[in-house]
Amino acid sequence: MKILFLKRIVPARAQRTVMPAHSLKGTLTYTPTHCDRCHAENEDYTIIKNGTKTSTIVIPAGGTKKTYLELRKQRFYCKQCQTTFVAKTSLVNKGCFISKDTCLQAVIKTAEARSIKDIARDCAVSPTTVQREINKASQALQTYNRPLPENLSFDEFKVAKGQLAFIYIDVAAGNILDILPQRDGRTIRNHFTTYYTFKQRKRVKTVSIDMNASYQGVIKDLFPNAKIIIDRFHIVQLMTRALNKTRIKIVQAFNTSNGEDQKKYRRLKRYWRLILKPNEDLSSTAYKHYTLFGQLPSKSVVDTMLDYSDEL
Ligand SMILES: [Zn+2]
Repeated sequence: MKILFLKRIVPARAQRTVMPAHSLKGTLTYTPTHCDRCHAENEDYTIIKNGTKTSTIVIPAGGTKKTYLELRKQRFYCKQCQTTFVAKTSLVNKGCFISKDTCLQAVIKTAEARSIKDIARDCAVSPTTVQREINKASQALQTYNRPLPENLSFDEFKVAKGQLAFIYIDVAAGNILDILPQRDGRTIRNHFTTYYTFKQRKRVKTVSIDMNASYQGVIKDLFPNAKIIIDRFHIVQLMTRALNKTRIKIVQAFNTSNGEDQKKYRRLKRYWRLILKPNEDLSSTAYKHYTLFGQLPSKSVVDTMLDYSDEL
C-alpha cells in the first residue's frame, strides 16, 4: 500500500557539518484504506488529500556523503471526523527522524572497536542516538532469567549421521537446561558467555562429563570455580537403583506361606549385597560359610539366587 516516489537527487544546502552532504527528495503518498483517527473506512472519497508535510530523515550515507531524505508526506483529511492525519512510512519509527536503517547501521558498527563519537559521525547522528540504540539492542539481548544450578552435567547425543548435539542438565533437578546444535568448544563458549553472566557462572560448583569428552578446557574457562567430575559414577548409580528396585519386587513375591518360597525369601533378603558385587569380586574357588546356604564359594551363592527369577 505504501508507495515511495524518489524524484530526483539535488545537492543540499550547508548542513551544520564539515562533511559533504546531499539530500534526496521524495514524496510519500497513497490512498488510505481507513482514517487513522476514527478508523472509519475510506468510501466514496470520505478521506481526501490535504496538502503535505515535509520531514528531513537521516538515511545511511550514499558513498562518503552524509545523506538526508527530504520526504514530503501526504496529509489526508477525513470528512467523517473532520481531522487530518499524515501518511505513514515504515522507513522510520513513529516520531523519529532517523531512519531505522541508520539506527541499525550504528548498532552494527558498535561491534567494531570504535568510539561512540566515531560511529555517530559516520552515521550522521548524535552520540546520544548511538548510545540509545546500543541500550535498546542490549535490552533485546536479555540474558536468561533463570540462574545456573550449582551442579551441571554436560552430555551429547546424536542428531543426524555423524553429528552430535550438546546438552546440559541440572543434575539435582534432572532438568534439561538447553540443547545446542553443535558440541564444539566455540559454540559452547559462545552460548554460556551470551546467556549467563560471569557472576552466575562462578557459582557453578561441579560439572559432570562423559569419560571420553574433551570439555575440560572449556569448563575451566567458563566455570572458574567448578570441579570436573568424570561421569561413570552416574551410570553406576542409575543401574544400582534399577537393580535394587527389581530385586525388592521379586523378594516381596517370595514372601508367602510356602516353605520353599520362604527359604528363597530369607536367602535373598540376607545376601542382597552379593548381587551388587562386581563379577570380578566374586570367587568360584574360595569356599566360605553362608548361614542359609552352607559351605559355598560366593559365585555359587549369587548364581543360586539369580536362578530364582528370570527377571533377576
Ligand atoms: Zn476520521
